[in-house]
Amino acid sequence: MLEAALKFLKQINDSGFTAYIVGGFVRDHILGIESSDIDINTNATPKDIKLIFEDSCLPSEDYGSVTVIKWGVRFEITTFREEVNYVDNRRPGEVRYINDLKKDLLRRDFTINAICMDKDGNIIDLLDGKEDIDKRIIRTIGCATERFEEDCLRILRAIRFATILDFDLDEDVRSAIKEKKFLLKKLSYYRKREELDKIFASSNAKKGIRMLLDFGLDEELELPNLDKVNETNNLIGIWSVLDVIDKYPFNSNELSLIKNIKEAIKLNNFDPMALYSYGLYVNTVAGEIKGLDKKKITESYVNIPIHSRRDLAVTSEDILISLNKEPGKYLKEIFEDIIYQVLYRRLPNEKEVILDYIVDKYK
Ligand code: ATP
Ligand code: MG
Repeated sequence: MLEAALKFLKQINDSGFTAYIVGGFVRDHILGIESSDIDINTNATPKDIKLIFEDSCLPSEDYGSVTVIKWGVRFEITTFREEVNYVDNRRPGEVRYINDLKKDLLRRDFTINAICMDKDGNIIDLLDGKEDIDKRIIRTIGCATERFEEDCLRILRAIRFATILDFDLDEDVRSAIKEKKFLLKKLSYYRKREELDKIFASSNAKKGIRMLLDFGLDEELELPNLDKVNETNNLIGIWSVLDVIDKYPFNSNELSLIKNIKEAIKLNNFDPMALYSYGLYVNTVAGEIKGLDKKKITESYVNIPIHSRRDLAVTSEDILISLNKEPGKYLKEIFEDIIYQVLYRRLPNEKEVILDYIVDKYK
């Protein structure tokens, strides 16, 4: 990926502009972590970038940033800029393109996110970000209180980076979070969810949840059950415990998973009917929330005699022929009955035995 990134920078340079890799990729590169995409800053305008990478630009342009997909890598290219007159404690009211790297770095959130790499792979560290990486510290560029006041999303970003990277928060960041946390109420639930998803999905999620609770951010973010999230590291499991579907946005797939997990939490997750009805995934997530052994749930699941109606040794047709009847609603009831009998091993899953049982009981 680094090779692709340097080649990309050279291409911008060949067109007469300056460009650097900045942000997450450089930070993660220094830490030896893989990045998913690459942020570039440059004195070329979005228009220039679109001319240089005509064939591989995505059509959308977000606040003067252009996305280019090249050699399978996603590049987010942003023109050097100054951001002023922040509104709603979230976004700049005005963005001015400039031709000054340092000024562009000064508007960024944390020192560890303001390290650059040039086209020859040299690190350019104008704001001592490397030192903070070495100390494993999240420090804002400039006064933390002011930076959180400008854009309160940075509060959640601070917690996110401290969680994912397992860094500490600088003292100023800590006191600024306490002072400015009330601003989080203004943030859209969509943005809150984006950041919380990254915190909850981290293998270090416990630390993030601890920080959110210690700062009382659960209250500002309206996450009343956050203190009940303990055993699980599963993202959708955490959202199920939090019980916030009336406020936070979820798609229909997520909503149905959450609903099923919440129902399955109330059941015995080793029980054949629970395993059959809700499946392995929902039961393991529910079990994880309750601190049950995942392996044992999986074993129990594997051992149930049938996993769906298709596994039954009899079909609707077999039943209709045996009973000599036309199809009707009563079939559903019969299936429910035999599924129950087979799941609890009161009947073997054998065609003749099941049909004898049906003829006996229903003819
Ligand atoms: P990752 O991509 O790993 O999530 P990142 O640090 O690259 O982390 P991005 O959201 O991709 O984060 O943003 C790229 C860079 O833009 C950041 O490193 C930071 O320098 C700057 N940045 C992003 N969001 C903000 C913000 N809200 N305030 C100030 N600077 C920001
Ligand atoms: Mg990034």
